[in-house]
Amino acid sequence: MPTSLESESESASKPPAGVVYLVGAGPGDIGLITVRGRELLERADVVVYDYLSNPLLLSHCPQAETIYVGKQASRHSMTQQQINQLLVEQGMAGRRVVRLKGGDPFVFGRGGEECEALHSAGVRFEVVPGITAAIAAAAYAGIPVTHRDCNSSFTLVTGHEKEAEYQDSEARARQQTRGSGDDADASSDLDWSAMARLPCLCFYMGVKSLPRICARLVENGMDAATPAAAIQWGTTERQRTVTGTLSTLPDKIAAAGLKPPAITIIGRVVALRQTMNWFEQRPLFGKTIVVTRTRQQASDLTAQLRDLGAQVIEAPTIELHPPADFTAVDDALRRAADYDWIIFTSPNGVEFTRRRLLDAGLDIRAFGNARIAAIGEATARVIESSLCLRADMNPVRSVAESLADELHQAGEIAGRRFLLLRADIARPILRQRLEALKAKEVLDVPVYETRQAIALPADLPERIDAGS
Ligand code: SAH
Repeated sequence: MPTSLESESESASKPPAGVVYLVGAGPGDIGLITVRGRELLERADVVVYDYLSNPLLLSHCPQAETIYVGKQASRHSMTQQQINQLLVEQGMAGRRVVRLKGGDPFVFGRGGEECEALHSAGVRFEVVPGITAAIAAAAYAGIPVTHRDCNSSFTLVTGHEKEAEYQDSEARARQQTRGSGDDADASSDLDWSAMARLPCLCFYMGVKSLPRICARLVENGMDAATPAAAIQWGTTERQRTVTGTLSTLPDKIAAAGLKPPAITIIGRVVALRQTMNWFEQRPLFGKTIVVTRTRQQASDLTAQLRDLGAQVIEAPTIELHPPADFTAVDDALRRAADYDWIIFTSPNGVEFTRRRLLDAGLDIRAFGNARIAAIGEATARVIESSLCLRADMNPVRSVAESLADELHQAGEIAGRRFLLLRADIARPILRQRLEALKAKEVLDVPVYETRQAIALPADLPERIDAGS
């Protein structure tokens, strides 16, 4: 037992204790990470992630250093040993490390090897399980992995390893020394006669070896008519499913050009997909939609399109900026209470006005008793939520002409003073109508500017050219 004095001096010289969290990222859909996994991302110093963990999850850790160690980019790939070493070093340096791995860290994820390396180096670690691809991809393809009428067990198998994309150089070397004979692949350690009697098999990493897998199962007595399905990029907008039987699936996959990553499910439950295929039947599934609205405005539309199953690419063609010079805006805001009506024609106009009021040292009392008009329901809502004001007028049709008509009918134009807080490119028609109908003053002030967006997403022009 060290004395308390000894242990104090020892801990003073030690670096702060780091910790490595092996976190399952889930199968692809970013909603399928665990709450604990997300919390750990939010508090990480460094995140080490690979090919199958959805990179969109990194939006949970803007503060962290991120290190890609994916094995897909085979030329730059790190060996498993280098990854282990990296985790040990980061942990020893006292950092909070998240090792983000596709699916579950311990299901064919080599998480066990990483834990062993951390243990040997004396680095503390924790494991956060994730939803593994077989269960999730099957569920999103409308296939329950168990069903009382079909099977009471299911088996996760690695179809291995011939898929060079997922191999590091050690694995490739191992494979070469085994030779390339018929029994050389890792799936030859499997007990085929036992497997052929199991009711539901889920193969990971088995796309290229699928013809052999299916042939072996049939040779060992499995019914060649057993339903089978392969699911590529399961749970994502790119999900594709090919179904057949043990005897037809390999050719169908080849014909469909289905590539890794994919899960193959073999068993009677596959037939249930006919009634349970919810994900691929959403109305916009398989469609790719480009949303060209500004970043600030796109999210709502994007979320709704995604809910309907679309793959959405946000590619704003314009950007909104505050005016280069605030003189005109500030003058108008200081005199806002002198106007009879203040008109907003978009939620952006409201938002830029709100920010400028505060930045200019003013607040909503600058509006005095001026009445408020809004074009569009969304504008009226933002006036309420951001400015704590109710719009006095919100025309039935969301266009400038309708507002002018309704104001005119209410006898509210002639002799009145109007302040329009709008975009630099707003149509002149509202101002012109108000002036023509004898308004006393119309001050049209651009509270924000629209500029052409500088860059589109990198692969967008290619994808448009490719018609995809
Ligand atoms: N640890 C992971 C599996 C890693 S092995 C997990 O628990 O899911 C890599 C294999 O996982 C791939 O070859 C593929 O068979 C499968 N896989 C991972 N994500 C997938 C997805 N979204 N759709 C289909 N298969 C997937």
